[in-house]
Amino acid sequence: MKVPMSLNTIEELLPISELGFGKWYGKLMVEAHYTEGEWKAWTLSNLHRLDLHPGAKALHYAQEIFEGLKAYKTPNGINLFRPNSNITRMTRSAGFLAMPSFPEDQFMESLTTLVSKLSHLVPDSPGSLYLRPAMIGRSSTLGVAPATDYAFYILACPVGGYFGDVTSDTPATVNIWISDLHVRAVRGGLGAAKTGANYAASLRAIAEAKKMGFNNVMFLDAIERRYLEELSGMNVFVVDKGVLKTPPLGDTILAGVTRDSLIKIGRHLGYDVQEVPMTIDELLIGLANGEISEVFACGTASVVTSIRELGWKGERIKVGNGEAGPVATKLYQTLSGIHAGKIEPLEDDWIVKCK
Ligand code: PMP
Repeated sequence: MKVPMSLNTIEELLPISELGFGKWYGKLMVEAHYTEGEWKAWTLSNLHRLDLHPGAKALHYAQEIFEGLKAYKTPNGINLFRPNSNITRMTRSAGFLAMPSFPEDQFMESLTTLVSKLSHLVPDSPGSLYLRPAMIGRSSTLGVAPATDYAFYILACPVGGYFGDVTSDTPATVNIWISDLHVRAVRGGLGAAKTGANYAASLRAIAEAKKMGFNNVMFLDAIERRYLEELSGMNVFVVDKGVLKTPPLGDTILAGVTRDSLIKIGRHLGYDVQEVPMTIDELLIGLANGEISEVFACGTASVVTSIRELGWKGERIKVGNGEAGPVATKLYQTLSGIHAGKIEPLEDDWIVKCK
């Protein structure tokens, strides 16, 4: 029996407060297929269901990678923010999952074409058109081995805030549970790849965090269970005696484009920014004695999000005065200003014009 499922497309923008995140899709998608050792035509078509064998590798062995980037409306047209970084990261993710690489020029051209065709669905900033490239293993043989056939596609969703309402002035605030029970990634595993498997590993922790009244979860390293790593879909920063600190990249952390942008913007604004390991004990002591004044998370979907409260082993610990702090606010305003075309990007290739 066929069960009809809505594709949730919209042809006209809704107010940003009603857009939410990833609820609504533009009517077009990009699609490409890889078979017999090569990529076939890249096409733009109406959003449609995938033709997928129920034994497809993506469904059984999670051979899937994806990306997330945004197009913003500016006074001079519509721009993608740092798409080169997402394309490079997706190529790296493909390597982690034993998937073929793809023509990066074609990828970029598809992104800009899709955005220009859906330009009527790009909301005013801080809203945006979120682009979701994905690649999946399609082969249906059930042996555990990489697929030989792949589908690549790009979806487009007009979005507002990830955590509710957004403004360009102040970051949203959230409360975060630091899990002492779950780990997201291990050394030698897939943590640095943007693959569904990592998100599957975080779902139980997110569900438990929500049950306890938290918005999301932060993970510690899998071996010592001491070092701060990242959230399920965001990197993390703390402000320690005025110094901006974020955990160093490695096997177990996704190299966020927003993280990299904030490191560069932070240094440009004159902050001392350090990529250094931080333990949970250092965090708790710093919060208790007031030396750590801010903790915030960052990512494409949520941009900069201040953490007002942390949960750890049954305790609830307030961060600063429970509001977005001055450093997170300054970084957010600067990054949002660049997105909205009101502030010059730090590097020329941060902005790619679509229309
Ligand atoms: N970590 C994880 C696990 C993520 O899913 C994301 C979102 N892509 C990030 C960090 C932030 O990355 P970016 O700034 O590139 O969106």
